[in-house]
Amino acid sequence: MVKGRCMKCQKEVEIQNGKEVVTKNKMRMMKGTCGKCGTIVCRMMGKAGKK
Ligand SMILES: [Zn+2]
Repeated sequence: MVKGRCMKCQKEVEIQNGKEVVTKNKMRMMKGTCGKCGTIVCRMMGKAGKK
């Protein structure tokens, strides 16, 4: 389970329905919702195309 920081809960929460997306500046990001309050939670995963 991937965790991210929820702005609403103000703590680390499990990301529900997380999907990996690549932003315009080629950063990989996990995007999903907070398992507690349903707010969108994002987590930076680092640069795309690099292990
Ligand atoms: Zn939350």
